[in-house]
Amino acid sequence: MEVFDAELFAIEKAFKIAWENKQLNTDKVWIFSNSQAAIKRLKKSSLKAGQYYIQSIRKWAKKFQDKAIQLHLEWVPGHMNIKGNDLADKAAKKGTKLQYITPESYISLAFIKRKIREKALINWNNIWSNSKSKGKHYNQFECKPKWKQSARIVKKQIFSSYFQLKTGHGYFKSYLNRAPDSYPDICFICNTKENPEHLLLNCKRYSSIRNKIKAEK
Ligand SMILES: [Zn+2]
Repeated sequence: MEVFDAELFAIEKAFKIAWENKQLNTDKVWIFSNSQAAIKRLKKSSLKAGQYYIQSIRKWAKKFQDKAIQLHLEWVPGHMNIKGNDLADKAAKKGTKLQYITPESYISLAFIKRKIREKALINWNNIWSNSKSKGKHYNQFECKPKWKQSARIVKKQIFSSYFQLKTGHGYFKSYLNRAPDSYPDICFICNTKENPEHLLLNCKRYSSIRNKIKAEK
């Protein structure tokens, strides 16, 4: 916020406070500012700077006018041992301290979020690469943990089949056979174990399709 805007903001705030604290018999309101620039600005409507606050202050002024309350906006010199003014100066100093930000101490929330995600990913990666049991099946594919899944560039059906074949979890007898009371995991045509490898590379049932794909190469 520019200093000039800050002064107009303060005047606008003063109007608001005065409005909220007015009594039934209030007929005069005095607002004091030590900013001559801001007071001058309020008198000249042609200028662009601080337009937002000027308009808001005019609205407040209109409200007071409608209630037949006289408004006085006066300039007071700063640092002249005027009680209200000194209090305002103290508050202003406190405010600047609160907002005092050095490059070293300022850290944005976005930065913290990014760091947390980076750290979490490193931890996950360590757990992933050191784990002997969990996700063991996937280890053979040299995949790495990442936050976003890779963009899918093939149709869902193909992608799904691809992953079923890759993981061995799918409509294969070798997999279905894991359930109790299931069919044996034998390919009826070739009379050997039916697993992804068999279906992809050896099964006689798919030899014509396989040859077609090989010919396409
Ligand atoms: Zn077969």
